[in-house]
Amino acid sequence: MGLDARTVMGMFSMMAFMFFCLFELAGLRVGAIRGVRQWAIASLLMCLGFSLAYFYGQTTPGHEWAAVIGLTLFALGTCLQLTGILAFKKRPVSWSILILFIVMTICQAIWFSVIEPDTRMRAIVNSLLFFSVYIVCARALLINVEASQKLAYWYTGASFVALALLMLTRAIALLLSTDAEIGLHVNTSINTLPFLIAALLEFSVAFGFLLMLNHRLIADVYQMASRDALTGTLNRRRIEEDALRLRARCMRTGETLAIMMIDIDFFKTINDRYGHPAGDKVLCSLAEIAQNSIRPDDYFARYGGEEFCMLLTATTEKEAFELAERLRLAFSEFTLTLGKDRINVTVSIGVADSNDIGLVFEDLVTAADQALYRAKQKGRNQVI
Ligand code: GH3
Ligand code: MG
Ligand code: MG
Repeated sequence: MGLDARTVMGMFSMMAFMFFCLFELAGLRVGAIRGVRQWAIASLLMCLGFSLAYFYGQTTPGHEWAAVIGLTLFALGTCLQLTGILAFKKRPVSWSILILFIVMTICQAIWFSVIEPDTRMRAIVNSLLFFSVYIVCARALLINVEASQKLAYWYTGASFVALALLMLTRAIALLLSTDAEIGLHVNTSINTLPFLIAALLEFSVAFGFLLMLNHRLIADVYQMASRDALTGTLNRRRIEEDALRLRARCMRTGETLAIMMIDIDFFKTINDRYGHPAGDKVLCSLAEIAQNSIRPDDYFARYGGEEFCMLLTATTEKEAFELAERLRLAFSEFTLTLGKDRINVTVSIGVADSNDIGLVFEDLVTAADQALYRAKQKGRNQVI
């Protein structure tokens, strides 16, 4: 192999610095997402750790303490990567394990570098310590992952698994190697190749973090684009998307899909009499009541203005009618108290199902809207 171990360390150090800059820049635009700062500092610590390894070979004066400091920086960096992952996932950090890992790394580094110098034992113990912390990182990435971001988590988790396996292989190789092969700047297959692979895998981890960040931002934007800003329910765009999915599902399973269009009666009067903010509160309260009355499989959205839409899976028009009646009653019994004002509202509801209308969402909306219109004409506060 044309590369020597020292060149690989120098390259790794420079690339780690590049990732530090990249994470710092990414951190400026991530809003409430946490963890990116830890990954930035982790890269910086690894850059410094490898710089020391680059400058202090086995024979350079002061190399013992350079090894201790370098390993400590690397251990701190790896722990920060882990805390970054946990912060990113909004999970608590188990500090005792991290502190134990750092203390063990420092103690063994001092023991095998300064007190009883033994490069082979130091490298073996290090490899095993890093093996265990990489496994913890992989575990944090591979379990309890949001479905929309699985791919990015798994990619990064797989990179940590590969790092862990590399450390284990190196520990075994170090055990079996001759004395001449041991040493930081010695160009042998147990040095140059593992360093090169470790550097590439650390790049892979950094790219994985950036991919996780990218997927999280996309998921957040999608979430924002599919929710109504006032009531927090799904919006029209999103329920239209869900309706397409439901249509495919119902065609496959033969389930009936029911729809409900809900419109607040004389809502304009509430705005005119109590003001727009009071109207907003009514909308939020009604949305909350409706949201709490549906099953996890059903869909509830603000369709526009003071009109809401509900899609009920595996439900017939008759069953939907019964739920609509319960909702109508709940709304009519609800009172919003605002200072001295007590606001009561009623709703009119139109119901339809796919047995009569088919599974095209627009057709279902039209049918339910026609029923709603009749409910309004017949005096409001009723279900048709
Ligand atoms: P009807 O019983 O026939 O449905 O009468 P209505 O007054 O409820 O219906 P209309 O369509 O005349 O008025 C709807 C009102 O809803 C008009 C609009 O100002 C109000 N509105 C729409 N979106 C919002 C909102 O986000 N907040 C508030 N406060 N009002 C809204
Ligand atoms: Mg209305
Ligand atoms: Mg309306």
